[in-house]
Amino acid sequence: MKYRRILLKLSGESLQSEQSSSIDADRLRQYASEIKRIVQENIQVAIVIGGGNIFRGSMGESLGIDRVQGDYMGMLATLINSMALQSTLESMGVYTRLMSGIKVEQVCEPFIKRRAVRHLEKGRVVIFGAGIGSPYFTTDSAASLRAIEIEADVVLKGTRVDGVYSADPERDDSAERFSNISFEEVYRRGLNVMDMTAFTLCKENELPIIVFDMNKPGNLLKIVKGEDVGTLISMN
Ligand code: UDP
Repeated sequence: MKYRRILLKLSGESLQSEQSSSIDADRLRQYASEIKRIVQENIQVAIVIGGGNIFRGSMGESLGIDRVQGDYMGMLATLINSMALQSTLESMGVYTRLMSGIKVEQVCEPFIKRRAVRHLEKGRVVIFGAGIGSPYFTTDSAASLRAIEIEADVVLKGTRVDGVYSADPERDDSAERFSNISFEEVYRRGLNVMDMTAFTLCKENELPIIVFDMNKPGNLLKIVKGEDVGTLISMN
């Protein structure tokens, strides 16, 4: 296996489907079984899941909810998704721990780096909920930060497109997918991989990112084996 410890970032929207506007049961099961497959290969798996299918801080403004309050609502939304994924994984026999950036004592542990690493070493999937616990950040930033803290080998950003393109592939037929690209080239071309805070954090800590299609069965396993799936963003 190419990677030993990974951080998987999933957006909240990835849990939506045409049938379900918030959390789709089939999607949850599909993701959980992809994750279980790599746990069986002894890959240490940490996960950050977004909350955009339920609430984003920016949605609050049109409702007259101030930004900070809205961001905490967004963080709670990520916890709801994290709890759903945790339950699904556990129902499939995968051991998990949910750690939160804000205190929700009845439901999960607070994030403590040493404890997170210990869970991973014991083969438990660790889900980081509530982002980093501070407003004005996103779960992409949480994914980068937590990955650095736990010394993950790579951030795997699961999306519905199969990598980083030279232009938007949903709008421009001439768009080409990069198999590898450097952090510098992403800046130079103004490509949208993650928000800039999250992206810069990875670059400054030389943490590679792979953007890939999480909806294609088997992709996650292929990536940890080192197969050429999605786009690898690295220092060179
Ligand atoms: N959020 C935050 N701090 C964090 C992580 C998330 O304030 O560290 C809030 C923010 O309002 C964000 C929302 O939680 O819009 C949901 O997260 P995100 O938008 O990253 O979810 P995704 O787009 O991945 O579904």
